[in-house]
Amino acid sequence: MRGASDILINTTEVELWPAYLLRARSNRDARALARARRVLRRKRDGRYLAAELPEGLLALVPRLAREPGLDGALAALDAASDHRRPGIERVGQLPLARLEQRLDALGLDHGYGQRTGLPLVAEPDWLALAGFDRYRRPLWLHVDAARAWQHLQSEALRDDVVLEAISGYRSHDYQLGIFERKLIRGQSVEEILKVNAAPGYSEHHSGLALDIGTPGEPPAEESFERTDAFAWLVDNAGGHGFVMSYPRDNPYGIVYEPWHWAWQGATRNICQSHA
Ligand SMILES: [Zn+2]
Repeated sequence: MRGASDILINTTEVELWPAYLLRARSNRDARALARARRVLRRKRDGRYLAAELPEGLLALVPRLAREPGLDGALAALDAASDHRRPGIERVGQLPLARLEQRLDALGLDHGYGQRTGLPLVAEPDWLALAGFDRYRRPLWLHVDAARAWQHLQSEALRDDVVLEAISGYRSHDYQLGIFERKLIRGQSVEEILKVNAAPGYSEHHSGLALDIGTPGEPPAEESFERTDAFAWLVDNAGGHGFVMSYPRDNPYGIVYEPWHWAWQGATRNICQSHA
């Protein structure tokens, strides 16, 4: 059973964060955050929209009522009590329509998926806190991947191997933001795609994948394959359901990523729940 304090409720345009995990950006925020249970946060730019206080919702932006996606976020807030009932841990998926519209607007057509063989990846409707990453940021993962990661990490530690999370769940908005900023700076879609996965096609959107590092190693570098941590993962990660998604010469044409591992068990669960 998970408490409300370690769950990120996800809707298409707004995330509902446990307030204690957020940093205040102003005195007004600080006062609201100190008393809030949850904070509604705009996914596109991270702006705090409203705080859920004991006496009701406090708007943190002008014209909150006109905020896109607010109705969906408030409905999710109302339904959030379901997540606290024991035994109810089903993870649903958010619709892909808004992502597809934004990909079209960026000039990223369906050719990318056909060329790479990669599917569009839906975001889950809630995520579990799986600890903190190397940079002390909350690490959000699909609840099954979160559990498996925590087991993997503690088992490694018993063998004197320190595994650090570099990055877990990433939203469509996060990846779209990287693209939009680079386009504004004058890079072409083709140039950006050489370095960044196309928004919507990253395994990180599912919450099932994470980038793993170890102290003293730079993040997301091929040199990770020469560490004790990597050798330990090769021997043990499979037993916890984790698979390296992009080995050398993978069929997707993605560069070798020895740091990127995905939990495979939930793929089966998601298919079953939609059958
Ligand atoms: Zn990755």
